[in-house]
Amino acid sequence: HAKAKRLGHACYRSEMTDRLVEYRSTQERLSGALERGEFFIVYQPKVDLQTGVIRDVEALLRWRYNGEVIPPYRFISLLEQSREIIPVSNWIATQACRQIAEWELQGYKVGVSINVSAVQFKDDEFCDMIAAAINEVGIDPRSLECEITEGLLIDNVSEAVDKLVQIKEMGVRISIDDFGTGYSSLAYLRQFPIDTLKIDRAFIKDIPHADDGTIASSIIVLSKALGLNVIAEGVETDEQIEFLKHHDCDEYQGYYMSPPVSPEEISVLLERHNSG
Ligand code: C2E
Ligand code: CA
Ligand code: CA
Ligand code: CA
Repeated sequence: HAKAKRLGHACYRSEMTDRLVEYRSTQERLSGALERGEFFIVYQPKVDLQTGVIRDVEALLRWRYNGEVIPPYRFISLLEQSREIIPVSNWIATQACRQIAEWELQGYKVGVSINVSAVQFKDDEFCDMIAAAINEVGIDPRSLECEITEGLLIDNVSEAVDKLVQIKEMGVRISIDDFGTGYSSLAYLRQFPIDTLKIDRAFIKDIPHADDGTIASSIIVLSKALGLNVIAEGVETDEQIEFLKHHDCDEYQGYYMSPPVSPEEISVLLERHNSG
């Protein structure tokens, strides 16, 4: 018994050490990744449920390291800890604006949304940096959208309201990402100048089974009552599409149309879904 316990303990220790080693080496490899050009952006369509037109695309970050594509859950929090997320996010905002201009040149009017990290949002330069990206490229600010999570708003409400009002006054749209997973009350959400609620995939994935459909349809009803646009995340099946159409959801995003892809592949999808 004592031996088993010791072995179990040793095993646990070595797993911890492995993770720590992996963590440290990822952090080392990550520093300078921006300068080395190892980041790239993939885009995922947001589709109008009535017309099938792609209205916007979401910019999602990827890291190419040693020929391997590393997903954001493995490095975003590390970038936040080192505050390196700020220059990386500035780069993403500028790239997103350039991409909007590029698609416009190709004859497509499509907006791009970017994910805003808490560290970036709390930074004093946040609003200036968004304005700089828009002005540098010279796009219509209404083509840009910031995706914000509820958690980011509760820390310092008056400061968050100030910043969102500033962003909104520029013309940039604002959405609440992963809606339904945070802790904010509805009364409280109304203080913020929000355009769109994004229903978290957790409330979509089991449709039409379970009670999850109830939460999704309630969020849709709520959005309508507040005069907000509403989009469902992580849509993969015909049943989910039917459910969302039936409940009058505005847009959807998910593998049903496309996973996040390169700008070139987005152009192909735009040609297919947005022309004529
Ligand atoms: P998110 O903002 O909620 O992004 C949606 C995630 O769901 C993306 O994962 C997307 O690939 C995935 N997804 C989309 N459709 C489907 C579907 O139909 N089924 C399933 N199973 N998944 C789907 P991804 O790209 O791995 O990003 C994960 C998270 O990392 C994002 O969640 C976001 O929180 C963060 N992230 C990604 N890019 C950035 C960025 O540029 N800046 C910041 N701050 N965070 C980012
Ligand atoms: Ca998002
Ligand atoms: Ca989301
Ligand atoms: Ca999410």
